[in-house]
Amino acid sequence: MIASPLRLRLDRDALVANWHTLAAMSGTAACGAAVKANGYGLGAPEVVRHLAEAGCRDFFVATWREVLALADAGVAVSVLHGVREDDMAVALESPHARPVLNSVQQVRRWRDAGGGACDVMVDTGMNRLGIRPEDVAAGLLAGMQVETLMSHLACADDESPLNAQQRDSLAALRDRTQARRMSLANSAGIALGPDYAFDLTRPGVALYGAVPVPALAGRIRQVVTPEAQILQRRLVPAGAGVGYNLTWTATADTEVAIVNLGYADGYLRCFSGKGRAMLDDRVLPVIGRVSMDLTAIDVRAAPDLVEGDWLAMDYDLAATAALTGLSQYELLTGLGARYDRIWV
Ligand SMILES: *Cc1c(COP(=O)(O)O)cnc(C)c1O
Repeated sequence: MIASPLRLRLDRDALVANWHTLAAMSGTAACGAAVKANGYGLGAPEVVRHLAEAGCRDFFVATWREVLALADAGVAVSVLHGVREDDMAVALESPHARPVLNSVQQVRRWRDAGGGACDVMVDTGMNRLGIRPEDVAAGLLAGMQVETLMSHLACADDESPLNAQQRDSLAALRDRTQARRMSLANSAGIALGPDYAFDLTRPGVALYGAVPVPALAGRIRQVVTPEAQILQRRLVPAGAGVGYNLTWTATADTEVAIVNLGYADGYLRCFSGKGRAMLDDRVLPVIGRVSMDLTAIDVRAAPDLVEGDWLAMDYDLAATAALTGLSQYELLTGLGARYDRIWV
């Protein structure tokens, strides 16, 4: 296969260190990993392999299509969106995967089909997916083989009174089911403290380098760096413009590198005039408008760069989210299919 002119440099040690950090913060609870959306854009099979080697045993995806991509991984996978009628054949034949049942209809569908182990999502206040706590307390799950009874925090990255309410609603179900374990916290929820960890935590975004709450600052390492190859270097004379609509005009003769990266690669137009590449400690600003496949960089500070060289983009997730207005989740999951994904 031909090498792509853009790549993601993915730091295996940083991924594993982030998981160990979140596992330590989870106390006695087991620490799983959300690997939906292709491992938040990094590549789910490789993320699962590295985390399984580190000792992670519980993985979460959204859909059964995502389970198939992990068929060879040999790990237990929970499917957060449960089972549609269309999923049942695959779900019943997947010994390593189980649905997270999240409506009364799904509970009945799974029970009536003689499905085995499952997880169950209870809605404690987010009003997204999940059955009502009253239904659990009333015995809806009687006789079912529930591995994990879980809920999901709506405001874990805020200081909201809803957090404690959700924690208490889930805790109140502890003796009302046969569930082997209970689970509530995502990345930000882990930082809320030990009484949010229950038996199993489910971090996603912080594994991949995001800092969703200040309590994680300084403890989470960057995992992902987009790198793009220089397609050409040119001199833009003073007074000339660059890119669509010539939104940037050279005030002096300027050396510019055109790199193979654009909004189709998740480097969205909000990086126009704001993003930057880093070369050691030199800052190389993005100039003009980001195109679909190309971005222009002011390389006056890097006289040696030539066609074929690679530039690493500045992609600290928290800082880049503040810079662009995109969320740290979007910065990860928007990374497209054209990158070579290189684990180092
Ligand atoms: C995505 C997701 C997670 C992981 O959340 P992060 O904020 O990325 O840590 C955990 N649980 C559920 C139910 C999810 O949908």
